[in-house]
Amino acid sequence: MNLPKIFLLPGREKSLLRHHQWIFSGAVGKMEQPDLPPGETVMVCSSDGQELAIGAYSPHSQLRIRVWSFDPREKIDAQFFRNRIADAVKLRQNLGLITENSGCRLIYSESDRLPGLIVDRYCDTAVVQFLCAGSEFFREIIIGELMKLPFINCVYDRSDSPVRKKENLPVRCEVAAGKFPGEIVIDENGLLFSTDPAHGQKTGFYFDLRDARNMVRKYARNKKVLNVFSYTGGFACAAFAGGAGSVLNIDSSAPALEQCRKNLLLNNFNENWENRCGDAFKLLRQLSDQGEKFDLVILDPPKLIDSRNALMRGCRGYQDLARLGFKLLNPGGILFNFSCSGLMTPELFQKITASAAEDAGVCGRIIARTEQSPDHPTILAIPETFYLKGLVTVIN
Ligand code: SAH
Repeated sequence: MNLPKIFLLPGREKSLLRHHQWIFSGAVGKMEQPDLPPGETVMVCSSDGQELAIGAYSPHSQLRIRVWSFDPREKIDAQFFRNRIADAVKLRQNLGLITENSGCRLIYSESDRLPGLIVDRYCDTAVVQFLCAGSEFFREIIIGELMKLPFINCVYDRSDSPVRKKENLPVRCEVAAGKFPGEIVIDENGLLFSTDPAHGQKTGFYFDLRDARNMVRKYARNKKVLNVFSYTGGFACAAFAGGAGSVLNIDSSAPALEQCRKNLLLNNFNENWENRCGDAFKLLRQLSDQGEKFDLVILDPPKLIDSRNALMRGCRGYQDLARLGFKLLNPGGILFNFSCSGLMTPELFQKITASAAEDAGVCGRIIARTEQSPDHPTILAIPETFYLKGLVTVIN
C-alpha cells in the first residue's frame, strides 16, 4: 500500500510484534516523509523494511504512533471504522448493556482497537472524546459511522480532555450531529441518574464504577455510610438502594453535589443524607477529630498519580486517605478504597492500604476486590488499559 513509511530503530519492533499499539518517539528511526501532518496514516516498518502495522502519526506527542491495524494490507477508511465500532457494540450487547434508557462505555480506546477514541452512550446520545491526532483525523467519518447505529440519534463531541494538549489539539465541546437533549436521565439497574454530558466531569458519568456500585449496594444494608469524592452520588444512590440507614457525601465540587442532590431525589431517597462541600482531606480530619464513626466508608478520589514524578506524592495521598477512612470506621466496618491511577499497581495499592490500616491501628481483612466494569475491558496486549482497582476491607 502506498502509505508513507516510518522505519523503527533496530530491535524496537518487539512490542509491536506482541500487538502493543503504542510506538514511542524513541523507537522511531528514518521517516520516508519527514514532515507528515498530525494524524496521517502511516506504514510502520522494521529497520530492515518489513511492513508491520498501520498507524496514526502524532508529531507532537511522545506517543508518536498509535496502531490502527496489524494487517499491513488493511485500508483505514469508513468501512474500517464501521467494523471496529460494530465489534465494540457487539461486546456491549453481549454484556446486556445496550438496553433502552441505559448508558455504558461503547468504545474504550485501545481496548476496542480504536486508540485515542472514547465513546460513552447516554440513552441515544453518543458522547465522544477524540484524544489523539489519529482519531481526530478521522473525526467526520467516526461521527458519521456512530450516527448510523440504530440506537444513536445524536453525537456530542466532548473533546476537552487535558491529554489533547500533548497532541497540540484544541479544546472542543459541541453538538456534532443530531439534536442534543442536554440533561439525560439514564437507568442503571433500576436507579435513575440525571447526567450532564456537556458540563459534567469526563463525559458526565463514571460507567467504570457500575460493578463497584453493585457491590456497595450489596454491603450497605442498615449502614451509616460516608461517601467521599461522591461526585453526582452514584454510590450514595447505590447504598440507599441496598438499604443504607444514612449517607454523608463529601465533594469539593458544588455543581457535582447539586447533581447528587437531584439524583437522590430522583430515586425518592428524600431523607437521611447530607452533602458537604469542601476538601476531603480536611473534612475527613475534622470528622475524625469530632470522633465521628461510620459503618461503611467509600474513598474514590480522582487520579492522584498522573506521571511517574507524581508517584511518591500520590501514594502518600492514597495512604493518608485510607488511614483517615479506617479511623472513621466502627468495629466491623467496611472500607471501599479505590485508585483509578494506572501507574498504581494492584500490589502497591494493597501495600498502601495495609500501611494505612497499620497507621490507623486496625486489623483489616480484604473481603472483595473490584475493578473497572466490563465495558472498559483490559486488552491483554496492553496492560496500561487496566487502571481501576477497588479493595473492600473489613476491620475488627
Ligand atoms: N465516586 C464518584 C466519582 C469520583 S470522581 C462516582 O461514583 O461517580 C472524583 C471526585 O472527586 C470529583 O467529583 C471531584 O470533584 C472530587 N474531588 C477532587 N478533589 C477533591 C478534594 N480534594 N476534596 C473533595 N473532593 C474532591
